[in-house]
Amino acid sequence: MRVDVLTLFPEMFAGVFGSSILGKAQEKGIISLNAINFREYAGNKHGSVDDTPYGGGGGMVLKPEPIFRAVEDLLGRLEVEGEGSTPDEGETAYESPRPRVILMCPQGETFTQQKAEELAREEHLVFICGHYEGYDERIREHLVTDEISIGDYVLTGGELPAMVVIDSVTRLLPGVLGNETSAVTDSFSTGLLEYPHYTRPVEFRGWKVPDILLSGHHANVADWRRKEALRRTWLRRPDLLQGLELSEKDKKWLEQLQAEEGRDTEDK
Ligand code: SAM
Repeated sequence: MRVDVLTLFPEMFAGVFGSSILGKAQEKGIISLNAINFREYAGNKHGSVDDTPYGGGGGMVLKPEPIFRAVEDLLGRLEVEGEGSTPDEGETAYESPRPRVILMCPQGETFTQQKAEELAREEHLVFICGHYEGYDERIREHLVTDEISIGDYVLTGGELPAMVVIDSVTRLLPGVLGNETSAVTDSFSTGLLEYPHYTRPVEFRGWKVPDILLSGHHANVADWRRKEALRRTWLRRPDLLQGLELSEKDKKWLEQLQAEEGRDTEDK
């Protein structure tokens, strides 16, 4: 996969792209991560990329030209490098083939594990990181394919949100995680929150690891994990259970857990 990030602060990405699992994924050649300063596409001697809003009001708005030019230049260069197909006559460079061009934006769709899985199937992602008051609306209308928010709060820029999305997509790519199964059982991938984990020592300050995990009985361990994932989801995020396809066994367990939890609450 190739990822290009258009930002005014490319230096912010050096640590994240070069470290830990993202750094290793690049070394293994699974992903190529590039931060591009779109100020280079300002097209004026002051390198100015923002301007005051029409209609007045506070804050500065990112101008359309530098961001359009940066995306078009990027896609044009890919064609020369042979990474994109030549556009048909009359098409602009970014129409064929079109990578996902993702605007980081608090007004976008809220990012989820499902969205990460969808993006992990792409070959090329381009992220646009905003700053200041916002973007000229024509960027939203005519350049991007997706608008993503990482939550209902406002940050100073799109860099941290882009890093969040890139991290969660990268760890889903085959060969990135040492243990391939860990992404499969993660919270949200199964539709449930993940079951609890324990490691050595068996007893710590009088708190013991559940016996079943020490039993070596794989089927019983799998049942326990499924039940605990159901319990945790029901207690912490009951909304996730709505519309989730549960087996008859799951439904029975859920009823049992609800009865157990009800008893616990009455006992307290
Ligand atoms: N005035 C904008 C609004 O009310 O929607 C907020 C602009 S914010 C200060 C500046 C930039 O930070 C945004 O353009 C976006 O790129 C990024 N940003 C802030 N919060 C975000 C969030 N929750 N998710 C994704 N990007 C965010």
